[in-house]
Amino acid sequence: MSYFCKDFTLALMKVPALFRLGLLAVASAAALHCAAAHEPEEPDFTLVIDAGHGGKDQGCSGTTQKEKVICLDVAKRLGKLIANEMKDSVDVIYTRDGDYFVDLFRRAEIANEADADLFISIHVNSLDKRTKGRASVHGASVYTVGLHKSEANLSVAMRENAVIELEEDFTEVYQGFDPNSSESYIIFELGQNRNMEQSVDFAVMAQNQLTGTAGRADKGVRQAGFLVLWATRMPAVLVELDFICNPDAEKFLGSDAGRQKCAQALFNAFRQYRAKHNAPARRT
Ligand SMILES: [Zn+2]
Repeated sequence: MSYFCKDFTLALMKVPALFRLGLLAVASAAALHCAAAHEPEEPDFTLVIDAGHGGKDQGCSGTTQKEKVICLDVAKRLGKLIANEMKDSVDVIYTRDGDYFVDLFRRAEIANEADADLFISIHVNSLDKRTKGRASVHGASVYTVGLHKSEANLSVAMRENAVIELEEDFTEVYQGFDPNSSESYIIFELGQNRNMEQSVDFAVMAQNQLTGTAGRADKGVRQAGFLVLWATRMPAVLVELDFICNPDAEKFLGSDAGRQKCAQALFNAFRQYRAKHNAPARRT
């Protein structure tokens, strides 16, 4: 049974126990944090960069661009920037480094197995083809996991979570979670605040950089029920760089300069986050 399955069973059947575990984890992580603060040398840091989609899962598409290609390119550019400046202190792990399919739970499992300190999932947004004004919508948003506060946030999570339908045995692996049913999303209300403070901290930094350095319009820091974030055990965010259904944004996301700006924005945010949290992040 995967970590994902264990988490899922806990959340569905043992909610009070999960809360108790969460409190214990936060308390012990706080103790670790205090101890590490007195260490003179820089601690090691593991960053997991998750390029959304891949292989048979194209993600969303514009007229010429595909989400899976943009995500991977920005992920690699971000990794390169980190390697240039922080090679000795930051270990970068990619959930995929080529055009192939990776199960959603496996992405989280890679980060959990590595005991990572931060998880950044990179995506591109789009509105449904029947939605009015889809050609004019634009802007970046950074998500942390939680219960959506609007239908718009829910629909983004539903679209991203729907990739599990491409996985074999997804009903078994995800314990009957239906990515298309709003009722399934109630689980995100429960016991998922272990790393919320640091996740939001990075999300705010990334959002500021995406609007500043990358010049994207500000669609805000948001919360929604993304399975991939929910299954991780460290601070985690999901970035929606811009809307591929907007021709101008698609052009930007398709260009070398645009992708480099997105990567630079995430790198600047990461550098800021590292400077602030120069001790290992909370772990469970
Ligand atoms: Zn996506």
